[in-house]
Amino acid sequence: MFEEREILDPELKENEEYNHEDSLRPKSFSEFVGQKNIVKNVEIMVESSKLRNVAADHMLLSGPPGLGKTSLAHLIAKEIGSNLHVISGPAIEKKGDLAAILTNMQPKDVLFIDEIHRMHITIEEILYSAMEDFRLDLVIGQGPSARTMQIDIAPFTLIGATTRSGLLSRPLRDRFLASFHYDFYTNEELTVIIKENTKKLKFDMSDVAASQVSMCSRGTPRISNRILRRVRDFAIVENKKVITEHEVSRSLSLMEIDSIGLDRMDRKILSVINDFYNGGPVGIESLCATLNEDRGTLEDVYEPFLLKIGFLRRTPRGREITEIAKEHLSN
Ligand code: ADP
Repeated sequence: MFEEREILDPELKENEEYNHEDSLRPKSFSEFVGQKNIVKNVEIMVESSKLRNVAADHMLLSGPPGLGKTSLAHLIAKEIGSNLHVISGPAIEKKGDLAAILTNMQPKDVLFIDEIHRMHITIEEILYSAMEDFRLDLVIGQGPSARTMQIDIAPFTLIGATTRSGLLSRPLRDRFLASFHYDFYTNEELTVIIKENTKKLKFDMSDVAASQVSMCSRGTPRISNRILRRVRDFAIVENKKVITEHEVSRSLSLMEIDSIGLDRMDRKILSVINDFYNGGPVGIESLCATLNEDRGTLEDVYEPFLLKIGFLRRTPRGREITEIAKEHLSN
């Protein structure tokens, strides 16, 4: 079995956090903590494709950033014993770029397209026949002399990842045989991940410190990793062998993360709704303008957790903050 990973997106190749995360990714399905239902389904799909000696069916993974979509794609390719090609939807600028990737794939390879909902519709259309019939329908030339050329490609598996499955076009969504939605991780699950990653980073941490990191990670392993890196820096500078609550508290306070994991931006969102809009409701566009923040970032990165913990409400008239959020802000 072999795994060869090819990152086709130049921005990802340069991305320090992505590379760091690569070293912390689970190496087998058994190391992949939580999301049990997704893992069970994926394992069966992969096993069945191996027994039938065909490419595994296309799958769509949706959920907030940092919950393990890319990591699962790595595991799937590894389990199949195929190459994984990684690309991000908005980075594909021309039809020809995607066509070149698709024609260069080996049978049963896995193509992972991150942020697939942000791919341009004219580029996305290439995927329809590629996914369904492993064939590219390319239009050559323009006007009356234009003609369609068909190229067969190797049977492959497309894994699409999206933070917003609702924004996917119907034809694209319909071509995924399976669609899985990620939930935020429980504190217990995060503690397991944190302990494992602490070992991978070659340091020790007390149980209390690990559970403190988990409580401040917004249900998201990527945030746990981010905190762990900062905590590790502290330990190195202070020459500590075992990390305790002391180092964790100092790191969290430097990162401006509070006791329930809210960062400066979360608190700013809540305070703006509270102070500026009297608790809401406020329309998303006005809120973004006041915060000077992009709507996509607000909706994909910040809102899901604030909604989950019941600090924010979406109403037909806009966003509102709840009583518990007001109480938290006043502490
Ligand atoms: P996404 O693609 O959803 O943005 P990633 O797969 O890049 O998220 O996950 C970010 C990091 O979180 C990974 O590098 C890995 O260390 C950790 N991680 C995510 N999910 C899990 C999991 N289920 N078990 C263990 N570690 C995980």
